[in-house]
Amino acid sequence: MPELPEVQTVLREVVKELQDARIEGLECLYPGTVIVDPELRGIAWPATLTGYERRGKYMLLHLSRGNSLIIHLRMTGKLVSTRIKDEASCHERACILLEGGHKLRFVDIRTFGKITLCRTENIPRFMPNLGVEPLGGDFTPAYLKQLFRQRKTPIKNALMDQTLIAGLGNIYANEILYRSRIDPQTPAGSLSLHKLKRLEEQTRAVLSEAIAMNGTSISDFRRVDDKSGEFQNFLQVYQKEKCPRGHSVQKIKQGGRSTFFCPVCQK
Ligand SMILES: [Zn+2]
Repeated sequence: MPELPEVQTVLREVVKELQDARIEGLECLYPGTVIVDPELRGIAWPATLTGYERRGKYMLLHLSRGNSLIIHLRMTGKLVSTRIKDEASCHERACILLEGGHKLRFVDIRTFGKITLCRTENIPRFMPNLGVEPLGGDFTPAYLKQLFRQRKTPIKNALMDQTLIAGLGNIYANEILYRSRIDPQTPAGSLSLHKLKRLEEQTRAVLSEAIAMNGTSISDFRRVDDKSGEFQNFLQVYQKEKCPRGHSVQKIKQGGRSTFFCPVCQK
């Protein structure tokens, strides 16, 4: 499942595809994959890319004519450029048409991914309530202390709650907690400012390293050019049997997801 570093990687590559090309249209190939703002006025195409940003696991592409695309890959969504690989897929759910006959295919086995075309000013209506950006300036130990105040929910679950912190999923939550030496079962509200400082630093470090390595390709994350990310080679506890210091990694379930942690390092 793409998390913040994978979405950032795909966004960077989508922007490269779109920045010098006229966008000719958006085709929906599976019911419900493309959502169109009912307030969209007139013709949306052709359009050009005028700006972009990432919010949590969402990509926002701003277009000419006052419209935007919101792309959410969800579990298995990927964007594949026909410039790199022109191969039809039976899992193609939507398609961004570019000038010269090029396409960006939205391929999504599980069909949970969405592409929304909306008026730029209506973006908030189509976005869920998202928490703080873990690479942004607001993500500080003091902010986390306030955010987790009186929360008894385990820190692992709190890290993955998109309404608290936007962009972290199971792989990075495991890795961040290992590197912060925090037991994933610790109630979020009981963490000291000192430990939250470590959590903040390690969150930034893990995410930045993963972005630099184009994300993690564990299951089926692929980039726009169909290449894999490389961060899976640097994971320290996720799906490991031993931690880097040689202790046995323990696997438990939290919120229905697998948690990997070292009971020695993460006391
Ligand atoms: Zn250990």
